[in-house]
Formats: sequence, C-alpha cells, structure tokens
Amino acid sequence: MIDFEHDEQLIATHLGDDYGRFLNSIIPPVFMNSLHVLDSIESYTGAAPASRYFYGRVSNPTVEIVEQKVAAMEHGKYAVVFASGMAASAAAVMTVCNPGDHIICVKNSYIKGFIEKFCVKKQGMTATFVGGTDLQEFEDAVRPNTKLIVIESPVSLTFSLQDIRGVAAIAKKNGIKTYIDNSYCTPIFQNPLDLGIDMVMHTASKYLGGHSDIIGGVLVSNDEEFMKEIRDFRGSYGAIIGPMEAWLMMRGMRTLDVRLQRHQETALKVAHYLEANDHVSIVHYPGLESHPQYELMKSQQRGNCGLMSFEIDTKDDEAVYSFVRGLKIFQIGVSWGGFESLVCTPFMRSKDEQSAKDQGANSRMLVRIHCGLEGADNLIEDLENGFKNM
Ligand SMILES: *Cc1c(COP(=O)(O)O)cnc(C)c1O
Repeated sequence: MIDFEHDEQLIATHLGDDYGRFLNSIIPPVFMNSLHVLDSIESYTGAAPASRYFYGRVSNPTVEIVEQKVAAMEHGKYAVVFASGMAASAAAVMTVCNPGDHIICVKNSYIKGFIEKFCVKKQGMTATFVGGTDLQEFEDAVRPNTKLIVIESPVSLTFSLQDIRGVAAIAKKNGIKTYIDNSYCTPIFQNPLDLGIDMVMHTASKYLGGHSDIIGGVLVSNDEEFMKEIRDFRGSYGAIIGPMEAWLMMRGMRTLDVRLQRHQETALKVAHYLEANDHVSIVHYPGLESHPQYELMKSQQRGNCGLMSFEIDTKDDEAVYSFVRGLKIFQIGVSWGGFESLVCTPFMRSKDEQSAKDQGANSRMLVRIHCGLEGADNLIEDLENGFKNM
C-alpha cells in the first residue's frame, strides 16, 4: 500500500487505484449507468445490508473515486462532487443557512450573485458584502444571527487576498461557519482546511478538469454530520456530476501538479513583461513582489496560477478593443484553468467607472488574461502584437 499522507503528487496519480476490483486495468472505468440492481429481495427491504450503489442520482463508483482524491488532496476527510461549481456553492450556503440568517461575503466573490438574487431576494436571508482586505471589516459585520462567512482568496478579477487564518479565528470566536472558494489556488497551492476554514469549494470546470471539456464542482470538509447533509442535499436537488465528467475530472487531476507548475512559471514571466510595459499602469498578480499583499500571499499560499489582470493606461475604449483584436493566441473567453490562453475585459461592458473602482480596480480598462500552456515566449509575443495594434 502506498502511503499517501498529504502527498499531492501520489494522491493525484494513484489514490483510488483498485486494480483487483477493476480487472487490473490501470485506469478505473467510467461507470456509465443510472442503476445498480440489488443482490436479493432482503437487501431491497432492508433485512440485509444494502449496497452502496443502487441509483445514480445518489452514488456512483467513478464519482466516489474522484471524491476520495479531492478530499485527500485538500487534507480533508470528506468530499462531495457536484454537477458544477455553482451547485456545490449553492449546496453549502443552503445547507448552513435558513431564512432569517445573516451571511458575510467578500464582495468580489463568484458566489455573490447567488447570495443576492436567491438567498436575500427569495429566501429571506440578509447579507453584508465586505472588501475583504481588512480583518476589521469582518469583525464589524458580525451580527448575532450571522451563520456563514464566505471568502474567495485570491478573488478572480482583481486578485486581492483575505487573511484566511484571521477570518477563521473571527468566525470560531463567534460560532460562525466559514466557506472558501479555493478554485484559483487549487489544492496544489493552498489548503484552507489547514488554516481553520470549515468548507472548501472548487469548481472542476477550471484547473481540476484542466482541459475545458467539463463542468463540475466539489465541496470538501472534515465535518461528518455536515457532509451527510450535503450528500442528502445533492441527492434531493439532483445535482450529482455525470459519470463521464467525473472520469474526465479524475484524468485531469492526474496532471494537476505539472500543469499548475507550468501555468505559474509562464504567468510569472508574463506578469514581469507586463509590469515593464509602458502601456500598462498596474498588474494584478499575487505572485509579483509589487502586489500589496505579497507577504500575506506567502504566508498562506505555496504558489499562484495562470490567471491575472492588468490595466491599460488609456481613457479610450477603442484602444483596449484594438489590443484584444491584435491577439491571436489569447481567445476572448470568460473561463480559465484550461490548457488555452484567454482574455476578457470584465469592467468594460459597463460604462460605469465607479463600479470598477468598487470592485478594487483603478479603472474600467482592466484586462484579465489566463496564461495557458502554449509557452511563455509565444504568449509574450502575442501580447506584444496586441499592444502594437493599439
Ligand atoms: C467558474 C467559477 C466558479 C463556478 O464554477 P462552475 O463550475 O462554472 O459552476 C466558481 N468560482 C470561481 C472562482 C470560478 O471561476
């Protein structure tokens, strides 16, 4: 038996291998079925122990292997895999919070829209949105009915961080549960359960899958009772991931470590190139020493991925659009975490300069890029051509 204890590379490559169970195949099969029949009428009526598998909305052997892998990589005991990151996030919030409860949430986080549109407008919850860079904001937002603190560090447009240990301590002191979206770092670069957070969410549609071919999500926690409720919620809402997607997620995770190392290496070169470019007023990348929270980053992360943003020094929307039109490798797209490089201008869809500032940018002229696996030199050349096209 391999000793997997907290070894990301061994877990990603081999945990869940069960050669004897699967005809000695090196790859566990995809259990592409909705149903497992039962051994006997007794196991159906409950007189004999029931099988773990009986209906695909509740459990599936392929999904289970992926759950074991993610749990171990995140240094957690239990993982539940969902049909999307949003399904995993929604399950977490809806399981912790009831009508009348209060949520504190980082305002740039991905889940903010769900909390506003669904939890507050339809479920009778209240929410306070905080910038997240100052622990005092969390402290001040706590109310007697606060049940959950939602963070995402770093946030994925402007790349500010939250002090994860500090937030966890405030929550513990007040009996509040904590949730983090750890999709940016992946378990390779950050393990929030070790820093005191109760629940970790990942979208698998980004780095865990890694090939832009699946939508999926996962929730990890050490709380057995809570995770039973989460599993129940997934069954009731029908939000389990499909077997094929789970199998592709498992395949993606085998190379998570090598991919992330290369994404990081490339992104750092690109960030340095951008920082030295006269058209660029600021680069938002936590891996740069110029990032205002660089020290905090080093105290809670082991690295940074391929995602960053920068602001072009212009007042002219057309200049930014011309930059984007000059790119050949970076395709216009809203996602990230795959092998491919992408670009988008999230604050330019609105003419409102203030809303960009509210989210932590200096201007609307923010360009977000994902540095894929095409090679740093190729990406820098592509960006250079973009600037020449301005
Ligand atoms: C994409 C994304 C999500 C949502 O994941 P889906 O799988 O698309 O539902 C959540 N958090 C972050 C940071 C994301 O980028």
